[in-house]
Amino acid sequence: MKHILFLLFFCQCFLITPFHAVHAQTGKSPIEFFGFEPGSDRNLFDYDQLISYFRQLDEASERVQMREIGSTPLGKKMYLLLVSSPHNLGKLDHYKEINRKLALDSKLRDSERDSLIAEDKVFLLATLSMHSNEVGPTQASPQIIYSLVNTTDPAMLNCLDNVVFMVVPCHNPDGMQMVVDNYRKYKGTVYEGCSMPGVYHKYIGHDNNRDFVTLTQKDTRVIASIYNQDWFPQVMVEKHQMGSTGVRYFVPPMNDPISPNVDEGIWNWSWVFGSAMARDMATAGCSGVAQHYLFDDYWPGSTATAEWKNMIGMLTEAASVNGATPLYIEKNKIKVIGKGLGENKKSINMPLPWEGGWWRLSDIVRYEMQSTFSLLRTASANREQILQFRNKMCRSEVSKGKTLSPAYFVLPLQQHDPGELAALVNLLHEQGVNVLRLRTDMVWNDKILHTGDIIVPLAQPYRSFIKEVMEKQAYPERHYMPGGEMIKPYDITSWSLPLNKGLQSYEIPVVVDELEKNLEPVAVPFSLITVFPYHEDGFWVFSSTNNESYKTAFRSLSLGFSVFRTKDDKVYKGKSIPAGSFIVKGVSGKNVQLLKDSLTVEPLWYSENPDTASVPVLMPRIGLVESWFSDMDAGWTRFLFDQYHIPFKVIRPGDLAKKTFELNFDVLIFPDENKNVLMEGKIKRDGEYYMSNYPPEFTKGMGKDGLQKVLKFISSGGTVLSWGESTGLFEGLMTIKLSETENEEFRFPFTNVSEKISKAGFNCPSSLLKINLLPNHPLTWGMQPVAGILTEASQVFQTSLPSFDMDRRVIGSYPEDHILLSGYCEKEELLGNYAAMVWMRKGKGNLVIYGFSPQFRGSMPGIYKLLFNGLLMK
Ligand SMILES: [Zn+2]
Repeated sequence: MKHILFLLFFCQCFLITPFHAVHAQTGKSPIEFFGFEPGSDRNLFDYDQLISYFRQLDEASERVQMREIGSTPLGKKMYLLLVSSPHNLGKLDHYKEINRKLALDSKLRDSERDSLIAEDKVFLLATLSMHSNEVGPTQASPQIIYSLVNTTDPAMLNCLDNVVFMVVPCHNPDGMQMVVDNYRKYKGTVYEGCSMPGVYHKYIGHDNNRDFVTLTQKDTRVIASIYNQDWFPQVMVEKHQMGSTGVRYFVPPMNDPISPNVDEGIWNWSWVFGSAMARDMATAGCSGVAQHYLFDDYWPGSTATAEWKNMIGMLTEAASVNGATPLYIEKNKIKVIGKGLGENKKSINMPLPWEGGWWRLSDIVRYEMQSTFSLLRTASANREQILQFRNKMCRSEVSKGKTLSPAYFVLPLQQHDPGELAALVNLLHEQGVNVLRLRTDMVWNDKILHTGDIIVPLAQPYRSFIKEVMEKQAYPERHYMPGGEMIKPYDITSWSLPLNKGLQSYEIPVVVDELEKNLEPVAVPFSLITVFPYHEDGFWVFSSTNNESYKTAFRSLSLGFSVFRTKDDKVYKGKSIPAGSFIVKGVSGKNVQLLKDSLTVEPLWYSENPDTASVPVLMPRIGLVESWFSDMDAGWTRFLFDQYHIPFKVIRPGDLAKKTFELNFDVLIFPDENKNVLMEGKIKRDGEYYMSNYPPEFTKGMGKDGLQKVLKFISSGGTVLSWGESTGLFEGLMTIKLSETENEEFRFPFTNVSEKISKAGFNCPSSLLKINLLPNHPLTWGMQPVAGILTEASQVFQTSLPSFDMDRRVIGSYPEDHILLSGYCEKEELLGNYAAMVWMRKGKGNLVIYGFSPQFRGSMPGIYKLLFNGLLMK
């Protein structure tokens, strides 16, 4: 019976591209393999089943190859499927080499280019379900690949001759397993279809598409290497789901704003693919397909980064169900949210609206199949033009780099934190950028350039990416009506790598012949260590200016070595040792190599202790409060701590409320999380409580008892670091219960004035803002006097006179003007002189509040020290 249903379903799917009847079946069909039809109500397969399915298809069919491409943060293997004609799959290495030439060789002779294009295929890469609760694209993939493997339809066979379809069937295997396990756990209960508690990734959950500039996560790097370094596909699509009650499906083109750095040809091609999808899907009966809707394209942090590297990059989004549980959507409940559509009615961006009713996972599977087959047809029909376009982009970007400003970005070798310079060079290399260094001193105009300065020339194929991530951002302001409202950004508005890392850089506007003659490649991995100054039984000194010094200090502590910290600036034997530097003693044997391997900057070495006034450092016992509400900011904190060898324990808000739970810590961390989620396990907006979508065991807050515990923890000598919305926990009247009859009441000496300045017209959608730092304070050791913080300034502090056993210092404050460093901000002057970071003492302990995330998305190395210093406060 199931089999018959499956065939009916199949026929419906191929209405416009009738695949001929399958006579000799190759490989097991999805329903035979899984025991249910993928997409059927309340059924999901998991990651291991998915891979097993494709493994048997790979073994049975000459039209599929499955290749292992890396592993996830939790150790699962990641795979790439290549689907094409047997002839093409037999020559993959050959085509790969042609792809590389077309993508990167701007000097190909026309005749050679033409002959390469004549034989090459379009490589179309699809990455599925990076957001693991958006299960549809991955659940559709077995049907899609099975049908391609078995098709006898001449038109589709022609597609497989012209196209190599590359599919990452699951972009986030760790998350997929978690989400499917969670669905199965609650299936058949009252909580069926609930959200998965926590983040569906080792660290960062939904933020995994915010990581493609900085490449911090293992799985991000695996995906990015497919297009940056290995295969050079010409077309890429990432497949997602969106909310349940809006349009049914989004296809390109995107909405405004778009990045001024990306060539217009990329978007023109996205129109071609998107319009064909909209047409083909509507013809196949898929209603509610919208273009030009909601999603903009000015920000390079998702897999759309490929567009800055000359690929035709796209996004599709299907309306969601609850896991695999269907939803009934009343017609009058369908609402469009955002740019491009004003109402759910027949209009040019959505000529065939959806009428409402049941919406099932099988609908998403059906839409995904039509979308994918359309992409294949467009790629096939335009094979030659797409390949020509790829090499034309390579040539024109190199040419723009020679004729347009800037011609170079220069990163001087002398930097406050040279380890971050090394990290940037290595990141750019991994992004496929050619990075060079100067081999002699020279003068250009009034500028002195030094031997070893890093030079990034713009005359290279990935020019638009280089420009995008190296310059400071100016938000592309667009309006649909003259004088109308500005189109708002979807995400952050600043991502300048030098600014985020606290590095000096400048531009040279024109090509300089003398410079060109004196450039040489950098060795990768890039390091600034020339002579490593190690002898037995000495004292290594790691400067507080370098982030990697903190990493070494924490690692040395975990390995059991003695670590000391200097308290004052000092010059010893002609070398400067800034306050807060680390002295590590007694490293020997294999541990020397262990520490050395993680360094890119030479430490100082002395046979005697260079600062006998330095104080011993102990590894702090750290508790990190993470809610179950997809707490990505806490996840990024865990990630950063793991990178820096900082041990911690995760505390859930509900734990704090338990009588038996003791705060055996030195430092408690409250990342950016809503105060009501932390206190009550509920979301509250405008005075209204909203139901969460989690089972009750995950919606417990810390309550008044938990907060009591935290306040007593501070008063008795603990340190609390709190940033973003969690700072609201500590605002207002506080009470510590001293006995049954006696309470101590107090206020921490600060208030959040952000509402006041917003009402006065301040608006900042997450930009890089300048703050001045208090010098010579343990929280600012190792920092430059001025720092850039990425923030929307929703927590802007004013301090007041402290009373009784309290004290306070403003650690970081906004200047009076020139506050915006990069991005977009209205009425920035309203921030002038307010505090962005405050230290407070209460009793014997410390409370440090930050109006920004000091570890924001693992992308702000320029301010990490403001967090690390907080961990080491006494
Ligand atoms: Zn998504």
